[in-house]
Amino acid sequence: MEKKKQQQVVVVDDSAEVRQSIQKRLEEGGYETVSFGDGLEMLSSLRRLDDPPDLVIMDIDMPRLDGFSTCRKLREYEARKQLNWSGRDPLPVLLISSDDTLENRRQGFRLGCIDFIAKPFSPDEILRSVNSFLRPETAFAGMSALVVDDSQVVRYLVGRCLARIGLQIHEAGDGQTAYEMLCDQNLDVDLVIVDYRMPRMKGDEFVYLVRRCPETAHLPVLFLSSEGDSDHIITMFRAGASDYLVKPFISEELQARVKVHLQSRLYLSQLEEMNRNLYDLAVRDSLTGLYNRRYLMDFLTRIFARIVRSGMDLGCVFFDIDHFKRINDSQGHDFGDHVLAEIGALVRRLVRGGDLAVRYGGEEFVLILPRAGLGACIGVAERLRSSIESHRFTSGDKSCRVTISAGVATVLNDNPASASELIQLADRLLYVAKSRGRNQVAPKLVVEEEV
Ligand code: GH3
Ligand code: MG
Ligand code: MG
Repeated sequence: MEKKKQQQVVVVDDSAEVRQSIQKRLEEGGYETVSFGDGLEMLSSLRRLDDPPDLVIMDIDMPRLDGFSTCRKLREYEARKQLNWSGRDPLPVLLISSDDTLENRRQGFRLGCIDFIAKPFSPDEILRSVNSFLRPETAFAGMSALVVDDSQVVRYLVGRCLARIGLQIHEAGDGQTAYEMLCDQNLDVDLVIVDYRMPRMKGDEFVYLVRRCPETAHLPVLFLSSEGDSDHIITMFRAGASDYLVKPFISEELQARVKVHLQSRLYLSQLEEMNRNLYDLAVRDSLTGLYNRRYLMDFLTRIFARIVRSGMDLGCVFFDIDHFKRINDSQGHDFGDHVLAEIGALVRRLVRGGDLAVRYGGEEFVLILPRAGLGACIGVAERLRSSIESHRFTSGDKSCRVTISAGVATVLNDNPASASELIQLADRLLYVAKSRGRNQVAPKLVVEEEV
């Protein structure tokens, strides 16, 4: 097998001592490193490479060409497609400087530099920062964010920053496009980062509309505000934004804020899942996976009056395994359980989406078939009877065949006064089927013929 290529980091600093200390720590951390004494050297070497390095760490204060000018040249090469790998994402650049001023950070931000580390730094700090770019966290893997900004540099920076915590990134250049992606094309994301000033549709208008779309009404929306532009912060919150950040943002702050929102989103979805599981436990039978008797009564009582009023039909099939006691007695209770579970599976395969399949008790089952007349219900019961009759139930070295008997009643055929009477009627017909010799289906028709 081919050995996995190590990730490569380029270190540019005029001090040999600084270069060596950074390289040593990164190599210990598992990276391959290359270093240059200034920006010109690095640029001319980059132009000869076929593949881009994974990241560049660069000092700002260097002779000949400083870090900013080097970065500006690099972005020009990328824009003019003068590098062998042109067309890919911009090369990530991490700046280091003893001059940690807001103006320097802002300048770096505009040039698409992904982080800024102040000198003096410890080599560990560099490794931590490089790791966070090149070895993303997985805590939020599988979640995704939509980044909406008319500036490609900002989209890139925010995207890179969020990719580091495992997010998949989607981008839009204005509010209108983003709105269409979310609400028309149903793009599924966990978070939106949106600029305020944009062509076509501004940030506040976008947030306002997103809040009115049911799928995105509760989506966390963070907006990016420019410095000294604070009067629209309240406008964005009024429109429904969840949080904000001032540009140029520090990546750690963006990540921290995003994590808070994603964490509560994860927590909510866990709660929802727990609720669903609890609900399932409350309404289903664990052996067969079918609904339980309590759910049947709830469901049927709820729809019965409406069905009667509408003049539609609704059928009930009540069936019971023939001589099931003998199976328990001869093969053991566990094998009996296995038979019940497999019957559950056979039933689930047979019923349609709107039908309800229920384990009524021990070895008694009920099917509720909305909009099915007597003929259709007999058809379902017959198909079930014959598929069970022809099925061989096997578990380990034990095996057997079983049959069922079924009673069928429907609202229009039997005129029950209530939901429970419909079930009682089907149950009574089941006993007619038993008394006639088992392994058969009994609707009211047969009874009347007999009388
Ligand atoms: P019939 O044809 O008249 O229905 O005969 P039968 O033996 O099936 O009916 P009976 O009501 O006499 O016996 C039902 C048996 O079903 C008795 C009981 O032990 C068994 N049973 C009920 N619930 C379970 C269960 O959850 N697991 C197992 N293994 N057996 C069960
Ligand atoms: Mg039975
Ligand atoms: Mg029984």
